[in-house]
Amino acid sequence: MNDPVLVINCGSSSIKYALVSADPDQPRLAGLVERLGSSDARLAGIDSRGERFQRTLAGAGHVQALEAILDSLEGHRPVAVGHRVVHGGERFTRAARIDDEVVAAIEATAALAPLHNPANLEGVAATRQLFPELPQVAVFDTAFHQSLPPRAYRYALPEALYRDHGIRRYGFHGTSHACVSARADTLAGRRGGWLTAHLGNGCSTAAVWEGRSLDTSMGLTPLEGLVMGTRSGDVDPGLHAHLVRQLDWSLEEIDRVLNRESGLLGLSGLTNDMRELEAAADEGHAGARLAIEVFCYRIAKSLAALSCALPRLDGIVFTGGIGENSPRVRERVVGHLPHFGLGLDGPVNAETVRGREGRIDTRTPDCPALWVIPTDEEGRIADETRQLLGETAR
Ligand code: AMP
Repeated sequence: MNDPVLVINCGSSSIKYALVSADPDQPRLAGLVERLGSSDARLAGIDSRGERFQRTLAGAGHVQALEAILDSLEGHRPVAVGHRVVHGGERFTRAARIDDEVVAAIEATAALAPLHNPANLEGVAATRQLFPELPQVAVFDTAFHQSLPPRAYRYALPEALYRDHGIRRYGFHGTSHACVSARADTLAGRRGGWLTAHLGNGCSTAAVWEGRSLDTSMGLTPLEGLVMGTRSGDVDPGLHAHLVRQLDWSLEEIDRVLNRESGLLGLSGLTNDMRELEAAADEGHAGARLAIEVFCYRIAKSLAALSCALPRLDGIVFTGGIGENSPRVRERVVGHLPHFGLGLDGPVNAETVRGREGRIDTRTPDCPALWVIPTDEEGRIADETRQLLGETAR
């Protein structure tokens, strides 16, 4: 493997990893350690022949899990480690080489991402302990959206909340929006204006002009914007006070319901999984039908709103588990945007699934294009890691 970078996405009880070669044709070794700290912690991965393997790691913490990951790399040694870090606040407008000062800055942002940044830092600490000689880079989910202008990132709240407490819109999924919009530029043969829809368990849209994010649907936290698997997305900001006053709910209850019990799951009363929802809708399940309808309408509404940020609309890009695999969702979203002059090619849309990249519109001149572009967040994190280290080595 050619100069591989180990990409780490560390949560509080899980570590996702991928060993990514500089040669895009090389296979990736990738996997997931789940249930860290519990008796049924386990590592599940894919080896270089594409075969799946599993190992139990009873009681393993982050350091033991990383040791097991290293063991599973078939003797390949990474030249660097790239960490996905969720929140970089206003400080990080791009990837950063990790040192004590960068760790302190990520810690200082933890109030904005209390579930994610501390977990990401556990991964950084464990990796630094295990591989002190390896350069480590933090790649932030928020960094790509630091190019938003104030009219897009400010809430209409008293200025002091922004100035003293950093309350503003940050946006997330930056690595994915950056990855697919850059690919769309390459495929179109020129840098242009793209609306990107990352539709997975988490969902967000972005407006990208010549490689710069100008607006996005997520805000201070990854709860704002679209309907997601279990997250509500936008609700009336008055909802919180209403639930406290009328139902005597606590903040924790509100947080739990909006983050974990809403979205597709809450609307359908069935599941957060789009595949299951589509099957249930086909059998006439009213909740599943409604969930898909609200989901698609809200995506279209968000894309229409974000189109205001672009000087020119070259096309819409669908990505993420749902965006890459659900012709039905793409068709419905496009159906809600008749005034955009889009022309969907039905048969091509239907066959562009399972990781296929493709242009799914009828290619009518002067009409915005429709693309399905599989996202590659790990590849992008590895590229940014390599690029940053290349610059600092010069
Ligand atoms: P992600 O978070 O990007 O892995 O995306 C997860 C979502 O993609 C889940 O809602 C899955 O149900 C959905 N998904 C994956 N494959 C399909 C498919 N073939 N059709 C519809 N949705 C799918």
